[in-house]
Amino acid sequence: MTSPNSSPNPAVAAAEIAASQPLAFDDTRTAFAHRSTRDLRRARWMFGLIGAPAMVALGAKAVRLALAIRLPLNWILRPVFDYFCGGEDIQESLDTAVKLSQYGVKTILDYSAEGQTGEGALNAAHDQIMSAIQSAKGDARFAFAVFKVSALSDNGLLEKVSSKASLTPEEQDAWQKVEGRVSSLCQTAAQHDVPIMIDAEETWLQSAIDTLAETMMRRHNAGTCRIYTTAQLYRHDRLDYLQQLTDTARKERWIAGIKLVRGAYMEKERERAKAEGRPSPIQPDKAATDRDFNAALDFALGHLDHVNIVCGTHNEESTLKLAQDMRSKGLKPGDRRVAFAQLLGMSDNLSFNLAASGFETAKYVPYGPLREAIPYLIRRAEENTSVGGQTSRELELIRQELRRRKTE
Ligand SMILES: Cc1cc2nc3c(=O)[nH]c(=O)nc-3n(C[C@H](O)[C@H](O)[C@H](O)COP(=O)(O)OP(=O)(O)OC[C@H]3O[C@@H](n4cnc5c(N)ncnc54)[C@H](O)[C@@H]3O)c2cc1C
Repeated sequence: MTSPNSSPNPAVAAAEIAASQPLAFDDTRTAFAHRSTRDLRRARWMFGLIGAPAMVALGAKAVRLALAIRLPLNWILRPVFDYFCGGEDIQESLDTAVKLSQYGVKTILDYSAEGQTGEGALNAAHDQIMSAIQSAKGDARFAFAVFKVSALSDNGLLEKVSSKASLTPEEQDAWQKVEGRVSSLCQTAAQHDVPIMIDAEETWLQSAIDTLAETMMRRHNAGTCRIYTTAQLYRHDRLDYLQQLTDTARKERWIAGIKLVRGAYMEKERERAKAEGRPSPIQPDKAATDRDFNAALDFALGHLDHVNIVCGTHNEESTLKLAQDMRSKGLKPGDRRVAFAQLLGMSDNLSFNLAASGFETAKYVPYGPLREAIPYLIRRAEENTSVGGQTSRELELIRQELRRRKTE
């Protein structure tokens, strides 16, 4: 028997109650419900080890050297791989998708091989991404598919197209193949109703990626947002870009899809700009990046009829701001025009608490052969090294949860 004011559907009622509760990102019980105590102890050991910058710098060098001389590395890297990746192939990653979905967190299968060259490798990457789209088809455990254009193109060619230099006939032919790969992935994703995101990369590759992404959005986003490009708000021109793209979409009657991120290549960008004697495309400081990131969230929330977003961040303040602003505007947490995304093994306190409150939340679940995931794993280790001797946020939360479980 239900009271006149309560919802007759228990799931809807639970979501309504959750939606009215304040969001607590320090609720480690919810954040780590999917991890066993054994898993958490291993993670504490691993984050402790990668917490020291000197250790990571030395480890990264040793791993690159071992890779070059083909030393077996699985025994050292396996625990790190298992924590941050779904598996060596899609099949292995399905277990992770099942586990995440039990807590309302969706999966974004992310083929993790980087820097491949040669037509064979580029076609193989295309086929892998296509398989990920096929796996996500009609399966509510998957939120999006994703790809990097640099997995489908030689980087030199991408750079040349971005700089608008003229191409040789062979390059024109190769570029047509890149366009064909991007086009077939987006076409299949749209056909099967699997929204697909195109990652953002270094500025010298990005204008070609922008053009491809805009063409795909124009083709597939009328009425429903299926293709998402990415804007890096550490670039000082990207807030304008978001606004212009939204305006173009409004005028041309399609929906702009944008994943908002701060940006992953800051040092590389600054170094290259300096070496080439041109101004850096990156904001002068973190505060400016944060300001534009939050302004982009505000802008998007005010224009959801013309732009849909994925908020790709581990930043607690921005995440809380977006969730609270959605509530204060009367948007339902599950409104599909706004999604939240984090990486597997990072910021579980955000992902699982957001999902428990009914927000559309997903994890990038990288998969691929362990050796090919090494650059990705090194980046995750570098991100988790301590700043000024402080324990990383991840390690602090894991310790907190282990202490809580002891007193249960
Ligand atoms: C789901 C998801 C998808 C992603 N996809 C992409 C992608 O397609 N392309 C991409 O480039 N990155 C991508 N990233 C990575 C992202 O851009 C950030 O590098 C990473 O998430 C850290 O930023 P943050 O907002 O989570 O956290 P924070 O810790 O709040 O921010 C760190 C970020 O702030 C910026 N920053 C730091 N110091 C300064 C400074 N001195 N001056 C200016 N800016 C500064 C940098 O961008 C740095 O990465 C993705 C991240 C997630 C979670």
